[in-house]
Amino acid sequence: APSARERLFSLHQAVADWWRELLWKAPEGELCRRYLESRAIAREIAETFGMGYAPNRWDGVLRWGAAHGYSVEFLVEAGLVVLGEKARPYDRFRDRLIIPIADEAGRIVGFSGRSVGSEEAAPKYLNSPETPIFSKGRILLGMDRAKRAIAQEGRGILCEGPMDLIRCHAAGFGNVVAVQGTALTEHHARLLRRFAEEVIVCFDADRAGESAAVRGLAILTEAGLDVRVASLPAGEDPDSFLRGGEAAIASFRETLQRAPAYLSHLLDQAARQNDLTHPRGRSQAVQSMAVWLAKIPDPIGREAVVLDVAVRLGVSRSSLEEAIRRTGTTGK
Ligand code: ATP
Ligand code: MN
Ligand code: MN
Ligand code: MN
Repeated sequence: APSARERLFSLHQAVADWWRELLWKAPEGELCRRYLESRAIAREIAETFGMGYAPNRWDGVLRWGAAHGYSVEFLVEAGLVVLGEKARPYDRFRDRLIIPIADEAGRIVGFSGRSVGSEEAAPKYLNSPETPIFSKGRILLGMDRAKRAIAQEGRGILCEGPMDLIRCHAAGFGNVVAVQGTALTEHHARLLRRFAEEVIVCFDADRAGESAAVRGLAILTEAGLDVRVASLPAGEDPDSFLRGGEAAIASFRETLQRAPAYLSHLLDQAARQNDLTHPRGRSQAVQSMAVWLAKIPDPIGREAVVLDVAVRLGVSRSSLEEAIRRTGTTGK
């Protein structure tokens, strides 16, 4: 008999197939089809990624499940059905564009549901909860498609969400994977490290994306990855940027090629955020960089960059070294 996990995999595949049919064949999928058009996602791309439409019903999956021999309990375990007041079950995903989430082996383990109606009406994204086969902190979206390219190129590109991932792949960037939002974990970093030594972080060029990128850098470098940071024009994410056609694709490629190493990115940031013409500004910049330099495990590697950083911030090498020692975390 199939194991519980195998049954969950096959349930996910079956419901994905049903939602996909509704997207392309049902009259009620029309609004969602138009939504895809409005975002310039061609049918071919939507099909490649197995997109579907979860109808605007409280009992869509419930009825479908009943007709296909899935118990309510099992649908709840899979995160497809939620128990409400008085344990009354209802569909989690309603009136949403469905993007299946696959594990590395390409098995569907969860779903991301994008609202297609008015943006305020619901959270923009609704995702599968943690289940026996799905954990947001362990899955990198697109890894099943990207792993070969990542290994071949020796580098992965990391972005924020499914739409970024899909647009990048459609534009020919096959080594892109995505987190769901901005919470990068050690598991994600280690997963990337299994396929390549280098990662380029390409988060949204907004406040949330930038601070998430900085938080992510520590996690990625600690996993032993060489990390670079690509910065898009303010307000853009890879999806919005790549909608600019061939010119945008060329420009994105160049942005990736030129992406500075993380320390250089942080140094630029420290120089931008502090007034280096004043001692206090220099001191703050030195302290922020010292924290990062102290994390470099190899003293020789550290020495190689300390001078550059000191020169750029307009301080002596010895005062930067002193600041590094004072962080008390050298080599950790
Ligand atoms: P779209 O993905 O439609 O282009 P967006 O670029 O504005 O929307 P962001 O706000 O940048 O989306 O969010 C990036 C990612 O974070 C999303 O793709 C999604 O995975 C996750 N996310 C965003 N909002 C939510 C939410 N309310 N709940 C759960 N996850 C979310
Ligand atoms: Mn964003
Ligand atoms: Mn975004
Ligand atoms: Mn976007």
